[in-house]
Amino acid sequence: MADQWPNRRLPTIPDLLPDELLYSWIGRLVTANALHARKDTIEWLFGDRYAIPCIDLQGHLTHLCQVLGTDAPLRSPNAFIETSTLYPYHRPFLSPSRDEAVVRILKEGGAKGLKTIMGRVANRFGATPPLQICARCAVEDMASLGETYWRRTHHLPGVSCCAKHGIALTIQARQALVTDRQKFILPVGGVAPVQRDVGQLERRFARLANEVLLAKLPPVDPWQRRSAYFHALEARGWCRARGGRIDFPALSRELKQHYEDFQWTVHRERLLAGDSSTMAWLRTLLSRPRVSVHPICHLLLIGYLFNSIAAFALAIRDDSDEFSDRSVVAIYPNADDAKKGFGSDPGLAIRDVSLSCRALATMLHRSVTTIVTWRRAAGVPIAERRKWLTPEKVRAVVRALVAGKRHKSIAQSHHVSISTVSRIHKAYFNQAKHEPMLLEKERVRRRRHWMNVTSRMSKGGVNAVRNRAGATYAWLYRHDREWLRSQTQVLRCVPKRRPRVDWATREAGLLVRLEIEFKHLATASSRRRITTTRLVAGLGGDNVRVHLRQMPRLKARLAEMSESVEAFQQYRIDNAVDRLTYQGKSCDLWRVQRAAGIKVWTAMLRRYAQEVIEHRPPSQARMNHRRCRYH
Ligand SMILES: [Zn+2]
Repeated sequence: MADQWPNRRLPTIPDLLPDELLYSWIGRLVTANALHARKDTIEWLFGDRYAIPCIDLQGHLTHLCQVLGTDAPLRSPNAFIETSTLYPYHRPFLSPSRDEAVVRILKEGGAKGLKTIMGRVANRFGATPPLQICARCAVEDMASLGETYWRRTHHLPGVSCCAKHGIALTIQARQALVTDRQKFILPVGGVAPVQRDVGQLERRFARLANEVLLAKLPPVDPWQRRSAYFHALEARGWCRARGGRIDFPALSRELKQHYEDFQWTVHRERLLAGDSSTMAWLRTLLSRPRVSVHPICHLLLIGYLFNSIAAFALAIRDDSDEFSDRSVVAIYPNADDAKKGFGSDPGLAIRDVSLSCRALATMLHRSVTTIVTWRRAAGVPIAERRKWLTPEKVRAVVRALVAGKRHKSIAQSHHVSISTVSRIHKAYFNQAKHEPMLLEKERVRRRRHWMNVTSRMSKGGVNAVRNRAGATYAWLYRHDREWLRSQTQVLRCVPKRRPRVDWATREAGLLVRLEIEFKHLATASSRRRITTTRLVAGLGGDNVRVHLRQMPRLKARLAEMSESVEAFQQYRIDNAVDRLTYQGKSCDLWRVQRAAGIKVWTAMLRRYAQEVIEHRPPSQARMNHRRCRYH
């Protein structure tokens, strides 16, 4: 029945919009054609009555292409995978064999166990993303299309802001919490933006995740990827110490500082998990490359080492000739410009070698230099007019840039001009044009925060302020060190005034408390030996003990009051005799010995016991006599 249903040609076939998820398109298709019989619709679309639609990695693609026929917005399952799922985001972090397995599942299977193979379940980052939307993207959609839709770039793992608008994404629904999970949920337009400040690191991470998705990189052999990471680490001087091995604790500290302790991400706890010195994912990533690690972790390391996906792709290509044969498409400084007139694939025109740079520049209203820069970043061969700037030289400059060297020193050591270095930097590191402006804005914000905290906590010195505003300190240390230094120097000048202790007054107070404490211990019904330790514990313990030298009277009084072992044994004998007398029992020596509970009876003790038994005065008198002994 399913193949025939809905028994008619669908009247409305929506277009697949730029960057739209397949889940979103099917949702709009179902709504536009009022396909209300849910189970029948699901069976018709996916060939399985019980299939659950997947937001980011929809399976059953071959079946879907068959039933939609010419109505399908894309012709092949592969085109769906590339254009309307998040799979291109995962591919560079999978091996070629896993890539084959995943593509097979996406085409034929129900995507069961798929996310485990892909490492999405690893590190417990959560396998299903919430359905979220950017309020400003939605406003633009409503104005131009009259409806809005779920975008791929808003559903990348760990991404919580729109890379285009830099504002926080609004979560509209969670598939796991919906009772009917076969229902296609559609976004609601006209929502108010989330009132939350989005930091620079959060934005930068979103940009990097976007770049991976759009770069459409091929799968990479895990060892090859690892060697690219190692070379970059080597260039930064991380492999020199300890016989070429990586100092994981130090690298871990550096990454934490670089990412400001991951304060900006909801996955902070999971990222910091591991032993006390090293984050677990970092060790796995570099020591056991075949183990699945979540793409978020790869991206964090790539962000630190390469700063852009284009530079990462270049580093991998450096390590393998095979890689360069496949289509490596890097990201352009402004992908939106490249999109004009070229459908949903921004790289199409850039990669089309039949178009000359000049023709493309005219079409895109850009300068020839810009087009050349974009094409270089995309790895498109360009007739090099300046023969001295060979690909090898460009690679050497990129490597030096990755190592964090200054433009001036790179220019000198590679015999190129500073502007050439800047141009290469711009091409391979994709610095958004507005980044300096954002940096300036961030600087103002951070400085204000630091000043605020300082005004409240300056008495505690630098450490107190730093404890309170750790992330701000780390940011300023990285980006505004001179200013921070000038501020902390002022802080350090605040003289530390410790109130002097008046030992005489304190001693007098403690002496009074000591008398009370002693009385309390001495009159307890079945008491233990009164020792200096026990007395001092009642006065405040070690705080008092370490300062006894400053309080000699207290020290002397403590010595007087503390009871020797013999004195305490005599007390126990007295006590036993008292008890026996009170109970009306005869005070034989053996009975006293047993009642006193003393293990070892010396001749002296036995003599004392006999003396007490023979000359025992009325019990009240002896109590008084015993108390006096301690005074
Ligand atoms: Zn947006």
